[in-house]
This record gives sequence, C-alpha cells and structure tokens, in this order.
Amino acid sequence: MIRGLKAPSFMDLALLAAENAGKAGEVPIGCVVVRNDEVIATAANRTLTDRDPTGHAEIVALREAARKIGSERLVDCDLYVTLEPCTMCAGAISFARVRRLYYGAADPKGGAVESGVRFFTSPTCHHAPDVYSGVGESEAARLLKEFFRERR
Ligand SMILES: [Zn+2]
Repeated sequence: MIRGLKAPSFMDLALLAAENAGKAGEVPIGCVVVRNDEVIATAANRTLTDRDPTGHAEIVALREAARKIGSERLVDCDLYVTLEPCTMCAGAISFARVRRLYYGAADPKGGAVESGVRFFTSPTCHHAPDVYSGVGESEAARLLKEFFRERR
C-alpha cells in the first residue's frame, strides 16, 4: 500500500499541520502536496481564519501547489490529507489531476471517497487518483476526537 519509507513521513507533516490548526481553533485537518519526493505545499483548514467556506486544507494546498508549479494541472503530484476528502475537495483533486491521494481517517459523515457520493467512481468524474486510505489513521482520528471533545 505505501511504497518506500517516505509516505508515512509526508502524512506526519499533514498531521503536524492538522495539530497546529486545532490549536488555532480550526478543525484539525492538514494536507501536503508532494512532487518528486518534495513537499510543494502544506496547508490546514482555514475556514474560520479566512471566513471562507471553501478554506479546506486540500483546497488551500492545491491552490498553493498550482501557484508554485505554474499550472492548474498537478499531474505528477500526490496529495496527503489527514481526513477523507469531502465532495468539494474530491472534485478539486480530480480537476487538478492529482496522481495519488493518501488519506488518514475515513469520514462517514462528510467524506466523498469511500463514503457519501463516492465521487471518484461516479460517471461525472473524469479523473480519479489512485487512492490509499488509512495512512496515519489513528493519529488523524485522535486529533479530531480530542478537538470536538474539548468543544462540547
Ligand atoms: Zn473538503
């Protein structure tokens, strides 16, 4: 499932971004975009900070990565995110032509990969990344659980 030793450490960076977002009061979800074994974008949820309903970690990271490589198509890029992407982010990942998607915890309530609309298998999806789930799952789930417990 994970090739080589690099995949877990990229997810560790996403988890670190998630943890820092949680400390800032954002829902702790983090994301990195990797190209040629190099991190080209790191982001976390910014919906509260930016008052932006589209400020999910994946969207913020995809924008930064596209700006960096000067292309709206991230064909040789892999995306690591701590939680299963939602419908909006799955759409953006498809439009960006991301090569591989690694995600941590499944999200039965808001996810759109193995949950909900399962966007990548829908007939209106024209590019699906290779998907690897459960990477860093327990840590990603722990961050979210602690975050919501503290807010109850
Ligand atoms: Zn999303």
